[in-house]
Amino acid sequence: MIKINQKQNCSGCSSCVNACPKHCIEMVEDNEGFLYPQVDVSKCIDCGLCERACPIINKVSTEHTPTAYACINKNENIRLQSSSGGVFTIIAENVINNGGVVFGAAFDDKFNLVHIYTNTILGISKFRGSKYLQSKIGDTYNQTKEFLGKGTKVLFSGTPCQISGLLSYIGRPDNNLICMDIICHGVPSPKVFRMYRTKLEKQHCATTRRITFKCKDSSWKNYSISLLFSNNKEYKKVVMQDIFMKGFLQNLYLRPSCYDCKSKSLNRLSDITIGDFWGIENIVPELDDDKGTSLILVNSDKGKTMFNQLRDKMILKQVNCDEAIKYNSSAIESVPINSKRDKFFKNLDSRSDDISELISKYTKISFFKRVYRKMGAILSKEKRKLLK
Ligand SMILES: Cc1cc2nc3c(=O)[nH]c(=O)nc-3n(C[C@H](O)[C@H](O)[C@H](O)COP(=O)(O)OP(=O)(O)OC[C@H]3O[C@@H](n4cnc5c(N)ncnc54)[C@H](O)[C@@H]3O)c2cc1C
Ligand code: SF4
Ligand code: SF4
Ligand code: SF4
Repeated sequence: MIKINQKQNCSGCSSCVNACPKHCIEMVEDNEGFLYPQVDVSKCIDCGLCERACPIINKVSTEHTPTAYACINKNENIRLQSSSGGVFTIIAENVINNGGVVFGAAFDDKFNLVHIYTNTILGISKFRGSKYLQSKIGDTYNQTKEFLGKGTKVLFSGTPCQISGLLSYIGRPDNNLICMDIICHGVPSPKVFRMYRTKLEKQHCATTRRITFKCKDSSWKNYSISLLFSNNKEYKKVVMQDIFMKGFLQNLYLRPSCYDCKSKSLNRLSDITIGDFWGIENIVPELDDDKGTSLILVNSDKGKTMFNQLRDKMILKQVNCDEAIKYNSSAIESVPINSKRDKFFKNLDSRSDDISELISKYTKISFFKRVYRKMGAILSKEKRKLLK
């Protein structure tokens, strides 16, 4: 049966839960706010199916070489509602229009992030936009298997580790299954975000009505986080001025597995990978208007067939893959652990009344470090100029 000895060896994908014939595994939140499987040993029949479905114990491998593109959805309205160039919606609509279903991450009515499916064009809107939290997979791998069993086309979108979990659970190739993953920085603690949201709700004397992690109204590169409250008041801050986003991007409270991610590579299991085309101004400046451009990696033949059918819906340009990911290292390598992470979590429960102050305390960068980073940035800019 599944046993978690080291937390970095569990991405929380829930493949083991979906595989258990006795339904005796439950995902339980730990003190940091991340979900891990817990087995009810009294019901376990020791069949070993959970271990067989775990993508970390049994790594699934493939031989994909990606082709990279800079892409923009020609539908400006959808593009502005999306996190980068809005390519997810083009692919999702195609699957729905062909009688298929789409799985993705959406908020439920209590603002928990959960994986669900839709078979309508309207339903896709819930998935649109990045939510910087880990979504609960629930029994969506089982549902995917049922749809595939009936011959229904399925688009499953999620983080690379969720795609590894799904494929490990399904266990065999299926022509009707299209997997789409994101370039993934890592996922922050849902508990920390819950505490942060509660604090903002208290400040605004209202409950949350809408959360937009990546609002691009004024800029994609310098996006904002926005929370709209029941009294119509809005909290909105540019990414590095918001303390939750600052802690997330300084890797203070990511899931342990994100510091040693087993699913990042250029040889991906997914058919298509979507991300932000950071560095677009240096590579394809004509596709940079600061409204969002996607970096698309077309990984498999299945992905290629689908992508080619949809070319007329996008403005696109093929690019050199290695050059594109030079500005987006999250595609291939894990972020370093923040040395203050342990101290932060040790103090989390006792300082829950002022979460912003706690994050602020552990995200302060010393004067010397700031000067050192600035010099590093100038030097790498000069190096890039010389390499051109
Ligand atoms: C936690 C996280 C970290 C990311 N880190 C990077 C990064 O380092 N570099 C980079 O280039 N891009 C990153 N992205 C991806 C990027 O922000 C966009 O989601 C991506 O460019 C797709 O944009 P789009 O405009 O095509 O579509 P959108 O409509 O914006 O994308 C929606 C898609 O993302 C999925 N999605 C949204 N939130 C989640 C979630 N929490 N878990 C699983 N799936 C989710 C939806 O199901 C849907 O498939 C990250 C996204 C997330 C959620
Ligand atoms: S060994 Fe079998 S019954 Fe026991 S937890 Fe794993 S899948 Fe469930
Ligand atoms: S299957 Fe997923 S959730 Fe279960 S132990 Fe393995 S990595 Fe963790
Ligand atoms: S960084 Fe890796 S382990 Fe973490 S959420 Fe992303 S894909 Fe999963």
